[in-house]
Amino acid sequence: MAEKKMRGIVKAQAGPGLEFRADLPYPTIKDDEALFKVKAAAVCGTDIHIDEWNEWARARIKPPVIIGHEVAGEVVEVGSRVTNLKVGDRIAVETHVACYNCQLCDMGMPHICPHQDIYGVTIQGAFAEYSKVRADVCVKLPDDIPDEMGAMLEPMGAGVHGVELGQVKDKTVFINGCGPIGLMAIGACIVHGAKRVIASDIFEEKLDIAKQMGAEITLNAKNQDVVARVKAETGGLGADVAIDFTGAGRAIVSALRTVRKGGMLVLVGLPDGEIPINLTEDLIYKEITVTGVAGRLMYETWEDCIRILQDPRFSMDPVIGGRYALEDFEAAFAAIRGGAPGKMLLIPEMTP
Ligand SMILES: [Zn+2]
Ligand SMILES: [Zn+2]
Repeated sequence: MAEKKMRGIVKAQAGPGLEFRADLPYPTIKDDEALFKVKAAAVCGTDIHIDEWNEWARARIKPPVIIGHEVAGEVVEVGSRVTNLKVGDRIAVETHVACYNCQLCDMGMPHICPHQDIYGVTIQGAFAEYSKVRADVCVKLPDDIPDEMGAMLEPMGAGVHGVELGQVKDKTVFINGCGPIGLMAIGACIVHGAKRVIASDIFEEKLDIAKQMGAEITLNAKNQDVVARVKAETGGLGADVAIDFTGAGRAIVSALRTVRKGGMLVLVGLPDGEIPINLTEDLIYKEITVTGVAGRLMYETWEDCIRILQDPRFSMDPVIGGRYALEDFEAAFAAIRGGAPGKMLLIPEMTP
């Protein structure tokens, strides 16, 4: 019998570009792993960086590797030592595969474990017909969460973790950047009881969706003074919390300047290099708290995300930007590069 093969998208060598392959080996699992059929996978900015082969990717990726880490699937096989999953379970995957054998893991922070593998980055990922991962990082999906939403839980978690850290209840929140994660964070702010959400981006189409997700005011940073507008909307005070999803230096400085004295800046977007900040004027004298977000809490944020998805005030539909077959991944990537709003999904069962 011929060896079983599968379709998928691979970083084949150290350099720019990705390849679609129809002859990838079908994964075989270890005792502590689960194998699942990929139902939906979402394209992340990280995947774009891996395609472009930027510094971040060069430091982490050892080709060949199947990329993709935002996924929902159905378990088809489990290793002999797996107790948390069974065949037929529907799952999403926490991308941080922690070691559980170091000081940070012992301190209850496996999501920032320095020895972790990253699913779809340092180990084989999701842009394929089948994928495998250590079973303990699989999160079971309730029946009422469809596969497409399940695939968006991982990125949603980064946004929701930012919203959790911002403690947004009864607060005015400034959301800087309305990519998929920013959009999901707006919806999360509403469910978490934020008083008001002001959102900013440079694409009108994304701002339209920000409104649908619950933003009261939207600002186009291309032609509006975001800092002045946020101040004007808050009686001169500024936002209680700003959450940045842009990772862009100047946009982060603006976000910081929208924050009121004693407020908080939460950083989710990843800047490429260092950013000059006037610490004295913009941070120290204002007693602003700044925190970064690295993924999600394992697994409190996942539970929070599932509750948010089940809340009638939250709809994921506006955040889905398009659906593509694996063979057409380049079209999905091009849409993202072109500024198309929403999350692009790859559906392995779709054919071009
Ligand atoms: Zn991602
Ligand atoms: Zn660890």
